[in-house]
Amino acid sequence: MSAEQTQFDVVIVGTGFAGSFFLMRYLEHADPTARVLVLERGGADPKPWQLEQRRTSSLAPEDVFVNLTPEKEWLTSPGFGGNSKCWWGGATRMMPGDFELHSRYGVGSDWPLRYDDLEQHYGVVETVMAVSGPPDSPMPRSRPFPLPPHRMSDPDALLKKHFPDGWFHPATARASVPTPTRAACCASGICELCPVDAKFTIQNGLSAPYQDPRVTLRLHAEVEALETAGGAVSALRYTSGGRNERVQAPLFVLGASALFNPHILLRSGIAHPLLGKRLHEQMSIDVCLDLGGVKSYNGSSMISGNGYLFYEGEHRREHAACLIETWNSPFAYQSASLRMERGRWNERTCMRFMFDELPREDNTVGIYGPNPRLAVTQFRGYSDYAQRGVDLVPQMVGKLSAALPIERIVSTSLGDTTAHIQGTVVMGEDPATSIVDRHLVHHQYRNLLVLGASAFPTATPAYPTVTVSALSLWAADHLFASAA
Ligand code: SF4
Repeated sequence: MSAEQTQFDVVIVGTGFAGSFFLMRYLEHADPTARVLVLERGGADPKPWQLEQRRTSSLAPEDVFVNLTPEKEWLTSPGFGGNSKCWWGGATRMMPGDFELHSRYGVGSDWPLRYDDLEQHYGVVETVMAVSGPPDSPMPRSRPFPLPPHRMSDPDALLKKHFPDGWFHPATARASVPTPTRAACCASGICELCPVDAKFTIQNGLSAPYQDPRVTLRLHAEVEALETAGGAVSALRYTSGGRNERVQAPLFVLGASALFNPHILLRSGIAHPLLGKRLHEQMSIDVCLDLGGVKSYNGSSMISGNGYLFYEGEHRREHAACLIETWNSPFAYQSASLRMERGRWNERTCMRFMFDELPREDNTVGIYGPNPRLAVTQFRGYSDYAQRGVDLVPQMVGKLSAALPIERIVSTSLGDTTAHIQGTVVMGEDPATSIVDRHLVHHQYRNLLVLGASAFPTATPAYPTVTVSALSLWAADHLFASAA
């Protein structure tokens, strides 16, 4: 690499939601001569390859991390587009109370920003993702969804009729109508690898910034460490194609997920008492219910309804809040999804109840001793706060029975993952109790941003993706506003 190629204006690590939305907004602000280097650990893994191989990444999980608690699954998909390749398209915003858990309800911790700070950014993200959603909403919105809502299933329609302010069409990046780059969702229910490209991914919806002549994208580039000098990050070392590389820039941005952001910082010796701790996601319970005379699985997408009945409210003082999703696929729960009685096979509905979480410091990601290239996760358990919410699932089902002819609870089971990884480089106002500030700038190294769900102080029941993306826009805007 020539001397000229080792100097950039910004180096971004990661091409998933966090890095790509930051890059989009950075390029909008930056001048025409800006030089941006983006490093991605995985390969291009184009969609035809994914479909042929029936997987989303050419790197296996064991190539990048070691899970010391295999019963607790963490899903990650290295490669261009990151976890946008394997996500399921859930695009719910967080609720205002999620940002103010402590000041409203006296539990957990507040986020160092408010819902209103992100509202406009949420709108931009939804536009880029072409999110489908209803005209009504459980949270304040300043603009309609870009795409019309999906069709609810019959059980969802009954729930909506009975609980008009508690049940909603899902906000989802699974297209309800065709877009210029995506087909309409056909409710096949295998969204991890959508066969018709109906869900938004970085590849089908946000690849343009990577074609910008100011941007150099380097695939198969594995970050070794950040170097620091004089209270700033001065350089980044990485390997690519068997070669050791070193680049310098006035700004470094980590967008490598809540598994690998802390791993890079730990390898760099950038310490903090909380670094790598509070690894978390929602606690989830899967419930299948037999219905009398109501047919299921006739919505137009994988998730056909979201229940907010047990989300916001004073109960959050005592136990975790809950977001419910109705699964619209008879294959989602294998044999538990269908009834055996003749003519009644789809008189059953399966739902996931997702509870927010107060992160525990003993759930961690660290460095794997024998091989520092691998992150290592350890999960000791969920909080009592989440468990108290889960314990109330039977009562919640009882409330749903006011709208649904529930004959019996067929099964309940603890979910092994909600496919969200959060909370290992926490944000906050106080450098003693947080690692990055409200704009995701590292408290100590002010030319270092750490993006993504690693900054989440608490889990919240909502899906994290549009919040991750909105935070990247918020961070990029602040960067340029503070430099002006
Ligand atoms: S339900 Fe099927 S078509 Fe729709 S996003 Fe999921 S995989 Fe794609």
